[in-house]
Parts: sequence; structure tokens; C-alpha cells
Amino acid sequence: MGPPGAGKGTQAKILVDEYSIPQLSTGDILRSAILANTPMGQQAKEIMARGDLVPDEVVCGIVSERLDDEDAKSGFILDGFPRTIAQAEALDEMMEEKGIALDAVIVLKVDSDALIERIRNRAAQSGGARADDNEEVMRNRLEVYSELTKPLIEYYEKQGNAKSVDGMASIDEVTAEIAELLKK
Ligand code: ADP
Repeated sequence: MGPPGAGKGTQAKILVDEYSIPQLSTGDILRSAILANTPMGQQAKEIMARGDLVPDEVVCGIVSERLDDEDAKSGFILDGFPRTIAQAEALDEMMEEKGIALDAVIVLKVDSDALIERIRNRAAQSGGARADDNEEVMRNRLEVYSELTKPLIEYYEKQGNAKSVDGMASIDEVTAEIAELLKK
């Protein structure tokens, strides 16, 4: 967990190699749906371009289906999900039904000025490949994060699952810190 630009996707990909389990990124799945122009993609396209959240039912459906895939049987990394309390509650329910449990919720702590800077760099590097990588949309995404997603940290703290790492450290340092936490 962490705001947009915190490095979730970067760290998730490293964990994929380390643990040989799939990364389940709702953002990636939604972007594929947009490219393939499926009904779900058509529904998500403008919402994502604005930096708002796709409806809970849509993303919960994606995750529930994806968790049933063969490659997710020995574990998985959720990236970008859950993003609302309703999604977290739905996740708890679907995991209980499937007889699985979360091992850890990694929270990447970062400051918002640095995030704007990171997203500027990402936008410059990607040459505008992502419709939601511009400053105005980024500000909206940060607001959406503070309002709807940040309360989840407390939700997982209460469950005893939340583990914080310093997301301002270098990629390698963050990776090392996460590895340390997951060993415990
Ligand atoms: P980042 O990794 O940069 O934070 P993502 O790729 O996770 O961004 O998400 C991009 C966009 O996809 C979000 O701004 C939102 O519109 C949509 N999205 C992704 N995951 C979810 C989710 N769990 N709930 C609602 N919308 C989502």
C-alpha cells in the first residue's frame, strides 16, 4: 500500500522474481482491458484518465477471478488493491471463502512533494504513454488516495497485518527492508 508513485509496482515486480508468485495489479488488468476495448475497459477508460476510482464491484470481480487462476495457488502479490474500505472488506470475505489469508500488508511511507516529482519523471520517461500520468490528474489521484485509500492503513493496523517501510529510501534499500519484514 502507498500513494500513487510510491513504488508499489516496482517493489511488486521484485517480489515476483524473489518468491516466484504472480503480481496481481488491478491497474495493469484495467489498462489491458482498455487496450483490448472490452466492455469493462470502456467503462474504466474515462474514470482512470481523470484519476478517479473504478467502481468497487468491477475491481473486486477482477480480483476474485484472478485469485482462482492456477498460478495464484501458491501465493500472490496484490498491487493497487484494495483501495477502499469496501474493497478490503470484500477481499477479507473472498479470501475466507477461498480458505486463504494475507501474510502481510506492506505500507510504503513517502512524502507528497517527492511523489509529484517522481510522477513528473515517470511522465517524461513514458512519453505520455499513460493517460493518468500528468500533474493535474496526479493531484487528483493523491487526493483520492488520502480520502479513500489511506484509511485502509488503520484498517490493517487493527488486523495486525500492516508493516511500514521507508519508501523514500533507494529501490534496493526498500527491497531489503521488505525482505526483512517478510522473514519475520
Ligand atoms: P499506481 O500504481 O500508479 O498507483 P495503478 O496502476 O494501481 O496506479 O492504478 C491506476 C488507476 O487504475 C487508478 O487511478 C484507478 O483509476 C484504477 N484502479 C486501479 N486499481 C483500482 C482499484 N483497486 N479500485 C479502483 N480503481 C482502481
